[in-house]
Amino acid sequence: MPHRRTIFIPSAGPAEAHRTAFCDLLARLESPYKKGDMVGIKLHWGERGNLRFLPPFFARAVVSWLRDQGVGAFVFDTTVLYSGGRRNGADSLRTAAEHGFTEDYLGCPVVIADGMDGRDLVDLPAGYRHFQTVQVGDVFERASGFFILSHFKGHLEGGFGGAIKNLSMGFASRAQKQRMHSDARPALIRESCTRCGTCVEVCPSHAAQWGEDAYPCYDLELCIGCAQCIGLCPEVALRLCWETDEAVFQEKLVETAAAVWRAIRGKTLLVNALINICSECDCMPGLHPLIAPDAGFVGGYHPVALDRESLKIIGSCPVDQAHPGIPWKRQFVYAGEIGFL
Ligand code: SF4
Ligand code: SF4
Repeated sequence: MPHRRTIFIPSAGPAEAHRTAFCDLLARLESPYKKGDMVGIKLHWGERGNLRFLPPFFARAVVSWLRDQGVGAFVFDTTVLYSGGRRNGADSLRTAAEHGFTEDYLGCPVVIADGMDGRDLVDLPAGYRHFQTVQVGDVFERASGFFILSHFKGHLEGGFGGAIKNLSMGFASRAQKQRMHSDARPALIRESCTRCGTCVEVCPSHAAQWGEDAYPCYDLELCIGCAQCIGLCPEVALRLCWETDEAVFQEKLVETAAAVWRAIRGKTLLVNALINICSECDCMPGLHPLIAPDAGFVGGYHPVALDRESLKIIGSCPVDQAHPGIPWKRQFVYAGEIGFL
């Protein structure tokens, strides 16, 4: 397979032209799938209230393209750290349906990769500077191939969000998301705590314990910063930590993507949609301002090559202007340093 090759099909819209361009791109990709395969389509169906997410038409087109090859499919995403429309599986499926991502419309099941309670997880080997392993949704047994469908746009901490981020934050467990955002240490928001005991149950180092007042407490000497308690607390009663070293964030993002890529490369296609290119991630509600005109669709066989090509097409100015000072170029330099090329 031509590892670094990318294919760009321009489209400036309207919506019908985007649809034609997307289907044209699918027809030109070299499919790694064979008859009888089951392909997991990773996408982002948008936070509740987000108005810039990639419409479900594109996922349906992939499902139909796969079906023509005798290949089955399901679409999936993972739950998120913060409260909103995707904190747990039930809420996230509801949000997906509100945005048109239903089995009826897509022609395939809609799946929460980390499970309805966020506990269907697997640790992938990493062996990098920040992560020895990365924890992601356990979707690998279910699929014999993957299709990474990413909406290319700005991102608060990454500068831009495309294929690398979709593999990284997109596959990550809630705990792994917290580990990427910041070195986590639990801090209880007492008024939100229902004393359900989940944090004590899941803590691997016995740092989370019951205090004498019957509320949980956390021994920071024993705490290894794994973020399981923060990720799995059903009430979001443990404070999320967002403060981050921006360069370290880029490296952690890349390490997580690289570990996922090692698990799925060779049987995966990727497409970045360069339409509705707005300033913020689809994780955030709202109608975020557009930062570049619609450009079209880029397909390929490696996430780093795909994001590099996407940035070449729209230019780096829109990203720098939307998120000044974010060292997003570090993603590409660091990918080279760890051999994720
Ligand atoms: S998991 Fe959350 S709600 Fe449950 S006891 Fe721990 S802090 Fe409280
Ligand atoms: S971060 Fe991990 S080790 Fe620390 S208290 Fe929470 S679950 Fe335990």
